Amino acid sequence: MTLLIPFDNSFARLPPVFFSAQAPSPVKEPRLVAFNDDLAALLQITPGETLEMAQVFAGNQVPEGAEPLAQLYAGHQFGNYNPQLGDGRAVLLGETIGADGKRRDIQLKGAGRTPYSRGGDGRAWLGPVLREYVVSEAMHALGIPTTRALAAVETGEPVYREQALPGAVLTRVAASHLRVGTFQIFAARGDVRSLTQLTDYAIQRHYPQAVGPMGLLTAVRDAQADLIARWMSVGFIHGVMNTDNCAISGETIDYGPCAFLDVYHPQTVFSSIDRGGRYAYANQPDIAVWNLAQLATALIGQMDDKDAAVEEATEIVHAMPGIIQGHWLDLFRGKLGLAEPHEADMELITSLMVRMAENQADFTNTFRALATPRARDQFTDPAAFDAWEAEWAARLGDQTGVRARIEAANPAFIPRNHRIEQMISAAVKDDYALFDRLNAVLARPFDDQPENADLSRPPTVDEVVPATFCGT
Ligand code: AMP
Ligand code: MG
Repeated sequence: MTLLIPFDNSFARLPPVFFSAQAPSPVKEPRLVAFNDDLAALLQITPGETLEMAQVFAGNQVPEGAEPLAQLYAGHQFGNYNPQLGDGRAVLLGETIGADGKRRDIQLKGAGRTPYSRGGDGRAWLGPVLREYVVSEAMHALGIPTTRALAAVETGEPVYREQALPGAVLTRVAASHLRVGTFQIFAARGDVRSLTQLTDYAIQRHYPQAVGPMGLLTAVRDAQADLIARWMSVGFIHGVMNTDNCAISGETIDYGPCAFLDVYHPQTVFSSIDRGGRYAYANQPDIAVWNLAQLATALIGQMDDKDAAVEEATEIVHAMPGIIQGHWLDLFRGKLGLAEPHEADMELITSLMVRMAENQADFTNTFRALATPRARDQFTDPAAFDAWEAEWAARLGDQTGVRARIEAANPAFIPRNHRIEQMISAAVKDDYALFDRLNAVLARPFDDQPENADLSRPPTVDEVVPATFCGT
């Protein structure tokens, strides 16, 4: 074996109540379709021969040092508590310490059935695997905390999702896979001992400076507040912000029916299963607060003085909207090229966005075009922009450095939904050219790349993808 993954596992050392030992289930004919060399280097992994890597990242061969397991968790799905979820189609191989000193999980997603699969087949099909690969790596390049993609393998087996589709396995890398739902399950069971152990583990692993359950709650709040504001700043819609998809680390996790805005409208929803629009673009900050309240409720279960704990937790949660808004203001101020805060900023930003929504302006291209004289072209009625521009120019005053600030804050390239769908359709026919091209272009999202201008173009009427579907 030439592939070398320097495992250093900690989660597997926890008591067995937190997981089930579970080897991945072998597949028929694994074929490595993507491998992330840069990430491998960061993880201090020595890549092996292609065939060998296909075997390992498909789950056919458990690498030395791995202690494969499926994690237990619960969660609120669309507001309803589900008392038992868990890794139903994922297997944690173990952890490595990166060249940057950071500990990360290496997980196979789509690795077969586990004790938590319920009715599912434990598998994933190629579409969502490649979607997560491209979008999570794009998020990373945009500077947004996220899980990452180390490898993708086609299994050579079909999975059945109304029709037969090619099966695949994604190797996902995460700061950890601890979720709000990981705490919820032990709180709901009244298992205070496990809840306390989990709290200690999470603090040690992610927020060593935090003191006690309320210290952890505060740290998670701050990380999530920063994350959600960043999503908003690039027009990202997660799509399934259930508490089991909300990571304690503050990373974006579980890319399912996610998508980026093309035309800006605050109530945009892509997910086919989000019928009520619970996880619409503009609702994300409120949902993040709701999720934090669920974490607070779970953590309180281990506190002796419940009344005092409720009071403290309430205060921590209630501060979250203001913290998100503070980050949001900083980020959108940057998007307008403003260097210093001013009390009228909120009004100026909102006024632009209202006009964008009324004029079907493309979110990404409008902000990017603020660095040029052509932003008005993004509006069905360019005069609506002109009126706002006068106010903006007055506020900007001295133009020094404005263009550079705008270009540094506003990407030229995002993983547009129609390109992702085109990429998946091609890959199903074994054409990975667009997959490779998207990865290359999206690795430098803030650079003008005139030769790739087609990838910054919004969808034509025919290309619009109105709905995205879950990976299940
Ligand atoms: P998700 O919507 O992908 O976050 O998944 C929600 C829950 O369903 C998690 O517990 C998953 O492990 C489980 N799940 C999703 N897809 C499958 C599948 N194909 N087989 C078994 N479990 C699944
Ligand atoms: Mg999930």
